Amino acid sequence: MNDNLISRRDLDFQLYEVHNASSLTSHPRYSEHSRETFDAVFETASRIAETLFEPHNRLADEQEPKVVDGRVVLAKGVQEAVRAYCDAGFLSATADEDEGGMQLPVLVAQACLSVFRSANVATTSYVGLTASNANVIEKFGSELQKARYLEALRCGRFFGTMALTEPQAGSGLSDLKTSATPIGDGRYLIKGQKVFISGGDHELSENIVHLVLARLPDAPPGVKGISLFTVPKFHTDEQGRVGERNDVALAGLIHKCGWRGTTSTMLSFGENDACVGEMVGRPNEGLACMFHMMNEARIAVGMGAVMLGYRGYLASLRYARERLQGRAPDNKDPLSPPLPLVAHADVRRMLLAQKAYVEGAYSLCLYAARLVDEQRTSESDGERAECNLLLELLTPVVKSWPSQWCLEANSLAIQILGGYGYTREFPVEQFWRDNRLNMIHEGTHGIQALDLLGRKVVMKDGAALAAMQRVVTAAIDEALVHTVLEHMAKSLQVSWQDVMDSVQVLRPRLKSDGEAVLANAHLFLEAFGHTVLAWTWLRQATVAQRALDGGVDAVNEAFYRGKLQAAQWFFRWELPKVATQLALLRTMDDSHRAMRDEWF
Ligand SMILES: Cc1cc2nc3c(=O)[nH]c(=O)nc-3n(C[C@H](O)[C@H](O)[C@H](O)COP(=O)(O)OP(=O)(O)OC[C@H]3O[C@@H](n4cnc5c(N)ncnc54)[C@H](O)[C@@H]3O)c2cc1C
Repeated sequence: MNDNLISRRDLDFQLYEVHNASSLTSHPRYSEHSRETFDAVFETASRIAETLFEPHNRLADEQEPKVVDGRVVLAKGVQEAVRAYCDAGFLSATADEDEGGMQLPVLVAQACLSVFRSANVATTSYVGLTASNANVIEKFGSELQKARYLEALRCGRFFGTMALTEPQAGSGLSDLKTSATPIGDGRYLIKGQKVFISGGDHELSENIVHLVLARLPDAPPGVKGISLFTVPKFHTDEQGRVGERNDVALAGLIHKCGWRGTTSTMLSFGENDACVGEMVGRPNEGLACMFHMMNEARIAVGMGAVMLGYRGYLASLRYARERLQGRAPDNKDPLSPPLPLVAHADVRRMLLAQKAYVEGAYSLCLYAARLVDEQRTSESDGERAECNLLLELLTPVVKSWPSQWCLEANSLAIQILGGYGYTREFPVEQFWRDNRLNMIHEGTHGIQALDLLGRKVVMKDGAALAAMQRVVTAAIDEALVHTVLEHMAKSLQVSWQDVMDSVQVLRPRLKSDGEAVLANAHLFLEAFGHTVLAWTWLRQATVAQRALDGGVDAVNEAFYRGKLQAAQWFFRWELPKVATQLALLRTMDDSHRAMRDEWF
């Protein structure tokens, strides 16, 4: 594979040296696999991504989905790409072998997905949503629903969506109005409007299975009165055969700043009072089922954000090596040859910042994927509970940190290309536009911050934070074995203690004056996120230093030195921000909260 989509050396480092993918094969679930099978699957993913996903990435941005004679038409190349993805078995990469899946570890499947996201985030959305949709039906669906939909979703004959958002209910899902009226034999008439539904209409598959949140007639108000329903575009029988059209209508397409290859739809359910759905799971427990899908979707958002940042980093690095411009500050000879951009310190600063953001965030997303594997394979309830806690705590960080900082990486990539970066002749502006979505969908940045500080940090009497403290401490202890890493290990120790002390201060106030504390929740998200990222960098630095101590060839030496330099940059330039943010957080400053509407 070429290194346009991801650095293959970095991928191997992350998978095998940091996250130890090979160790998973000692578990019976993955014993049929080996590093060779993981590499072979990755090669297939790379080939499809390079030859079928990447080539129409720009075209699909320029030729947005449109409605022609009542049908949604997509850019040329989308259909062929998603078919190749499904035919190669990636939709069921992690499903059991006896259900036709590859039974791959989630860690390896996410690494494969990362290369598709790098190649074309919009086309990958169709299959990503479908895989998550299938996982919900597998976990919560009835046997009948599984017979109807599951196999078809797993092989890509059907695609799936998640339909939560309504015009008056975005972040505030408690206000959603779509109704579900029972009509007997477990079926319901669905009526309402949904907006922003990704992949809501197209002809990439025989059918589209919408997972729709709606309210029963007697449901209590708020989120405790929301149930989940399967609503197919075409009615489907018990053998998964497609029949008549259901009463789901495309009310319009939405035109976006980026991510333009994915259809974003307004959907009308039950305009003719004939939209039939079936409940998934139990009445009024729909949000919990949907969150099963949304947690995965949030990890996917984080990974998508990383890969857009990664792609921009690689593109700007290539450009900086090729473009000749300017001379060293102390060179006054106008006849001397100009230097490549990469020779200028300020350009190197921007490249190193990008490297630190994207490779750190990549490591974090793969760590979350590995936690899902450990959940599935751990032998003891205690270990499984520990993984659950860590995943719960880290999900808002995995979703939001890359959305913010890998977007910043995209901005730096544009800056490195100068005027050319701002034109549509070069790809980096599209990466920025595509990435700008990630702070918005799947729960906005603000909502993630409220979730982290208001819920995750304090849940189960701080058990998740205590679990995180154990993994941070373990990484610090491992790093302290190497004298050269002592300063980083100690800096992380200080920042982590600062986080814990701040939580101690805020916890009682969360009970007495929660609104005042949560008004500054974004500060905690930023400070905690940076501390977590420093931890991912300390882990990478420890692996790199260990390899260097063992002796390596010149190529590997350059790679590991690059890791240590990026870690050092993060610790010197980014981690110090944590202390300032936490100090401000502890003051519970109310400047913005006390600002009155009429003073703006
Ligand atoms: C391209 C795209 C794809 C999408 N795909 C899907 C999809 O497939 N399925 C689906 O169901 N939805 C989808 N969405 C919808 C998305 O999840 C919502 O846009 C998002 O949840 C925010 O809702 P909203 O747009 O109504 O913004 P609002 O909820 O109106 O929020 C606007 C701003 O106010 C802030 N805010 C709102 N409430 C609070 C609060 N209580 N406290 C503090 N701040 C608050 C938000 O953080 C945000 O900054 C998609 C959106 C986009 C743009």
